[in-house]
Amino acid sequence: MPLALPLLYLLGHMLAIVLAPGRAEVLSFLFLIGAPLLAAGTCLWRCRGNGAAPAWIALAVGLLLWAGGMAVNMVQTVLLDSADATAGASILLYVLYGVPLTFALASPERERWQVRVVDAVLALVLGYLFFVHTFSFATMSTASQNDLGKLVLMLDIENSFIALFSLVRWLASRTASRRGFYRCQTVFAWTYLAVAAYINHAEPADAGFGGMTDLLIDLPFLLLAALALRAPTTAPPARVSPRLSLVVQAGSPLLLPMSLLVMSALISGTHLHLAIAGFVIATLGYGVRSVITQLRAMAERDQLDALARVDKLTGLANRREFDDALQREWNRARRSGEPLSLLMVDIDHFKRLNDSFGHQIGDVRLREVAQALAGGTARALDLVARYGGEEFAVILPATNAIAAQPLAEQMRAAVQALMLPAPEGEVTVSIGVSSAEHVVSDDPATLLAATDAALYDAKRAGRNRVAYRALGER
Ligand code: GH3
Ligand code: MG
Ligand code: MG
Repeated sequence: MPLALPLLYLLGHMLAIVLAPGRAEVLSFLFLIGAPLLAAGTCLWRCRGNGAAPAWIALAVGLLLWAGGMAVNMVQTVLLDSADATAGASILLYVLYGVPLTFALASPERERWQVRVVDAVLALVLGYLFFVHTFSFATMSTASQNDLGKLVLMLDIENSFIALFSLVRWLASRTASRRGFYRCQTVFAWTYLAVAAYINHAEPADAGFGGMTDLLIDLPFLLLAALALRAPTTAPPARVSPRLSLVVQAGSPLLLPMSLLVMSALISGTHLHLAIAGFVIATLGYGVRSVITQLRAMAERDQLDALARVDKLTGLANRREFDDALQREWNRARRSGEPLSLLMVDIDHFKRLNDSFGHQIGDVRLREVAQALAGGTARALDLVARYGGEEFAVILPATNAIAAQPLAEQMRAAVQALMLPAPEGEVTVSIGVSSAEHVVSDDPATLLAATDAALYDAKRAGRNRVAYRALGER
């Protein structure tokens, strides 16, 4: 069905030229305006509920600009009876068609609105430079032969840019919606590039409209319409190298400032001040954009870092945070000469509890014990962490053995007081305690080993109790 549409359209266009030779030019113009309008309509239709909707809309806007260019062309040729069909206003619209496309090509898959505003400003300035460049050669009604060559060069550069980057983004897109969009745009852009190159280079500049070559001009638009109408593919997405995808995503924002720099260079001969402004805006715009994205990246990194230090089940510090904190407090104690105590807490017969009540209840008990332990330390400097499995560790800075043992006993009693049901009686914990009175070494391993040994003393002695070991005691 989608293929029938372009074929019928081409047939209609051809018949209009053949059957009404007297009105061939006007009729052909109508078909030439209709083709991009049709393509724009299908793009807008396609963007409903589509993840790549902004890109489809940008493409539609570009196509509308192009249709506008053709309409101005028609007014000049048919109504004003001007012999020169390449007047500035229509060329400008053909050129501006590339601005929304470049904007869409430059935009990453997910970005903040502030970044999009910067991109939009760059795209607008780019459009303005296109405008200035176009009218530095062509007045509203004329363009000399020599200047036409420069305009054609600009169009060639623009079309090649769009075709190339559409292809790159297609190959590097990972989401189905983006892939679908860039695939359509790539087919369109390459066909458009080929047709424009043929029309601008192989055809005589004063060929005018109303001949069979006009059918060629319809082609890219009709192809796009047919592709946009096709149902999105349900095939699994092609495998894209994550690295390629990231490089293209990170690099594509360069497209707008780069285009702006190229345009500034092109106008520097005729409009030096504007060219300088173009250079400055391109550089500043890219700079502001990087600052915004970097701020976001930094905030996200901090968030991730904080998340990576929390145990998901209990909300306590995790093993990684514990290791860092222990080393930190150990170094601090060595500098200050203050003591440092460590507790190892292990739930008694937890395997039995899991076996009797199931792992989910086991998880709930783990959380309840974690809360009781966290509530047992009053000082901000103390750190309660999940050491692993059903084991917890408590770091007590500036605390000696005499102060640490009652605190451990308090925690043990707090867990027992919860009266959490266990297969035999209530859930209890055993706690090993050790303290470093004067830290001299640079590794807390001895403190860890002594605390661990103390915990096993408590287990051996019958569980649900606190045991103490001095550092280095065997
Ligand atoms: P002991 O009194 O000697 O410490 O006996 P125990 O059964 O507590 O010790 P053991 O090391 O034999 O078993 C620990 C159990 O803790 C085994 C494991 O299934 C359970 N466990 C470890 N992590 C989790 C967890 O995240 N959730 C649950 N539900 N259970 C866990
Ligand atoms: Mg254990
Ligand atoms: Mg245990």
